[in-house]
Amino acid sequence: PHPLSVWARNVSPSPTLAIDAKAKALAAAGEDVCGFAAGEPDFDTPEHIKEACIAALKGGKTKYAPTPGIEPLRQAIADRYVAEYGLKVVPAQVVVSPGGKFSCYLAVLATCSPGDEVIIPAPFWVSYPEMVKLAGAVPKYVACDDKAGFKLTPAQLEAAITPKTRLLILNSPSNPTGAVYTRAELQAIAAVALKHNLYILSDEMYEHLVYDGVTPTCVATFSPEIEARTIVVAGFSKTYSMTGWRIGTLVAPLPIAKAIAELQSQMSSNVTTFAQFGALAALKEKEKTAAALKVMTDAFDRRRKFLHTELNKIPGVTCLLSQGAFYLFPNISSFGLKDADFCAQLLEKERVAAVPGSAFGLEGYLRLSYATSDAVLQKGVERLARFCATLK
Ligand code: PLP
Repeated sequence: PHPLSVWARNVSPSPTLAIDAKAKALAAAGEDVCGFAAGEPDFDTPEHIKEACIAALKGGKTKYAPTPGIEPLRQAIADRYVAEYGLKVVPAQVVVSPGGKFSCYLAVLATCSPGDEVIIPAPFWVSYPEMVKLAGAVPKYVACDDKAGFKLTPAQLEAAITPKTRLLILNSPSNPTGAVYTRAELQAIAAVALKHNLYILSDEMYEHLVYDGVTPTCVATFSPEIEARTIVVAGFSKTYSMTGWRIGTLVAPLPIAKAIAELQSQMSSNVTTFAQFGALAALKEKEKTAAALKVMTDAFDRRRKFLHTELNKIPGVTCLLSQGAFYLFPNISSFGLKDADFCAQLLEKERVAAVPGSAFGLEGYLRLSYATSDAVLQKGVERLARFCATLK
């Protein structure tokens, strides 16, 4: 047969999913593995959300639904943006997709043609470069290390723009670093994007997982001109511990939302109909949802502080105290090992699973997820310290 397509040959499998799968396989084989690699909350989906889904399933919500989502859910999502951010969003601007990952991919497909350039600050969520490449576009990385708080500056953005640049991808709070941009920082970046007529994909998947009293920023709120070029992605996976449900959302200006819904109509159709009723309950039963979210964020916050303190006690490791998501991104470059080798040896010798920074486009770091039990955190960080001591 002919060789497989350029799309099949050029795509890199997700390194985070691969390492997590390896750790889970070791655990299944009876090994005592401390998993810091997973990108998902360790809580179950809140009960009232599950109940609403079950009721919908039993009630026969088992047929095709409108591609961009069931009407009450699109309405509830629009209402949420009005209530939380003061944006004037109407349901026709909302598209519900099979996961935030697909929402991002659709946003790239709707804005980028083959050969267009997309600016991606590094470290980045692993899927952005791949979805850009699958659109035939070209990822352009801008390195933002710990000295910069893992944040892009307006000057860096300005320098990376060429006549071919179409799209800027922003992700605050960030996976993999947990960094949260201030409103002023994002505003300055968005102003550069506006000046150069770029689209902005603002991935706000972790908007509700923020600590230290920080408030999340929705990039579409800066001005009507910025709103007119911004696609805001969010979803249910992280906030409500619904990763397996596969429900992502996006809000975009009307013509873009319409184009995205049309793309989705040929690629996947609607998100599982009864699952959407669970998502609707997450937004409608506000008190129950808020209580469940508080249990999660309190636990994440406690673990974040614990892990940060313990990491900085390890000679040779330095770690910023990030204020969002559920990741820390310690610098391990002082050990003089490639981060991929560091992670391979750490898993081999101490049975600790972590993802190397290089998987996210920045060498010399680890991504540690603290969406794991206190007991595993404690044990894992002890093992990491012991491993580091052998490298000195
Ligand atoms: N965006 C970021 C930054 C993420 O970390 C993730 C999940 O890992 C997603 C989007 C997509 O989430 P999902 O497709 O599970 O809804």
